[in-house]
Amino acid sequence: MKRWRSLMLAVAVVGIGTAVPLAATLMASWRLAVESRQAGLDTRAAHALAHAEAVYAEAAAALRTIDRTDFSPCSPAHIERLREITRTSLAVDNLAYGAGEIVECNAFGLVMKRQPLAAIDTTAPDGTGLSINWVLGESGGRPTLIMRLGGHHALVDQRRFVGPVDNGNDVIELSTASGLRLVTAHGTSGIGPIGRQMDPPAPLDTDGLHAVALSPNWVVIAHAPPLGFLAHLEAQRALLLPLALVLALLFGAASVWALRQRLSPRGELAAAVRHREFIAHYQPIMELSTGRCLGAEALVRWRRPDGELERPDLFIPLAEETGLILPITDQMIAAIIADLGPVLRADPFLHVAINICADDLSSGRVLGVLARQLAGTGIAPRQIWLEATERGFVDIDGTHATLVEARRRGHLVAIDDFGTGYSGLRYLQRLPVDALKIDKSFVDSLGTQAPTCHVTEHILAMARELHLTVVAEGVERPEQAAFLRERGVEMAQGWLFARAMPAPDFRAFCRANRAQFGEPCKVIPFAAE
Ligand code: C2E
Ligand code: CA
Ligand code: CA
Repeated sequence: MKRWRSLMLAVAVVGIGTAVPLAATLMASWRLAVESRQAGLDTRAAHALAHAEAVYAEAAAALRTIDRTDFSPCSPAHIERLREITRTSLAVDNLAYGAGEIVECNAFGLVMKRQPLAAIDTTAPDGTGLSINWVLGESGGRPTLIMRLGGHHALVDQRRFVGPVDNGNDVIELSTASGLRLVTAHGTSGIGPIGRQMDPPAPLDTDGLHAVALSPNWVVIAHAPPLGFLAHLEAQRALLLPLALVLALLFGAASVWALRQRLSPRGELAAAVRHREFIAHYQPIMELSTGRCLGAEALVRWRRPDGELERPDLFIPLAEETGLILPITDQMIAAIIADLGPVLRADPFLHVAINICADDLSSGRVLGVLARQLAGTGIAPRQIWLEATERGFVDIDGTHATLVEARRRGHLVAIDDFGTGYSGLRYLQRLPVDALKIDKSFVDSLGTQAPTCHVTEHILAMARELHLTVVAEGVERPEQAAFLRERGVEMAQGWLFARAMPAPDFRAFCRANRAQFGEPCKVIPFAAE
């Protein structure tokens, strides 16, 4: 179930990890493409405007030149001059003269056919009259702008105002400042005649991109069709596919790595620490002579999210190896205070024993944690016993210092699993210790002919000599209890009395035990009990 969920998560990570950066890249590249198109269009509009201004300036200069002359109208010299200026001007196609209603002469000579003068549509800021979209015989059907200054007229092919439109579907529109459209130029179809049009220009397609450039004479609108996202996507496909593949591979590899980490025993344990999945169970410690409950050993349990309890021998070695035992110990201390705080406060003779790992024995770190957690709880340090196994005596000097300091702070120190190590005795003389916990293997041998039975007798004699309290572990049968009692062993712990149990059960156990001794329960019941 968990693997399946993790797998689904990995698939989601790969999917999202690929899609999100891909979409972001696509959006960014689309925006960039749109911005670059807009910038190109702005430039094109500005260039078109500059071009129109240059053509107009040249035509206007030609017109001013001829208008400043004082030839006799339509005299051969006048016509010659009209012809010369027309030839030399790049902008002007023809120059004409007509002071009254009709055109009298132009660069080709006298005009015989009656040709009325064009009406002025608008006046340019420099005072030149403008008539637009005239289709004249000599212009070959192309719309012509007639510029009028005094009696002279300059004829300019309107297409000349807009240079070539080189970009695909772009459209450039040139209008006078007063809004009369002169030219609509397309990139594909070239410059098309639009006929004489006096109406204000129809608004351009509102979709797509626009750029406007203005001068006192002209308005240029450049228009490009919209750059659709889908079209962009299509255009970028060649780039996006390999990018998607690389991203998918990258996230796939990262997911596999994370999954392996997460699903590894170490990863699982680390996640359990993060999710605070460790709780304490309590196994009562009994006074052998009276049957009173004197305290409990706190034993860690890993409660998985599905409620299943994991036994410590399955994860404590890994926790010690990885250092995760330190946060687990901290969670145990917090749990003990939360579970038994009021019980310990109400009964100052009750104690809880905590198992201390080798690292904490060497460094003494746990003492600081205990001090901080106990502060203000009303629990006396004497009520917290520290259990240290011989396996934990890696750094004997550090351990010595830690145990001295623990006792100085008021805690009691017990040697756990006593007798299972090779050098118990040596340590026992050096280390500051209050109690010995005799390992279950010795208790098992009690009353039998096994050689360890003698060892147990020796341990008990030695403990008496050193004035150490003895706690027998793993007492399962009444005869073992009787044997130990006879030899003056003070305390015992084992299934004969009770197994390790959750906190509420232990609190109930304590209450029942106290009631048995006719002592009204000093233990304050928890709200839920
Ligand atoms: P331990 O400190 O020697 O704890 C005693 C173990 O013996 C406990 O097993 C307890 O449930 C079991 N036991 C008690 N009475 C009997 C009995 O009558 N018969 C039998 N067969 N077993 C009995 P548990 O809880 O599985 O703990 C195993 C070990 O895990 C502990 O041995 C201790 O070394 C370690 N451990 C447990 N809690 C912690 C902890 O909070 N921190 C550290 N560092 N180690 C812990
Ligand atoms: Ca122990
Ligand atoms: Ca033990």
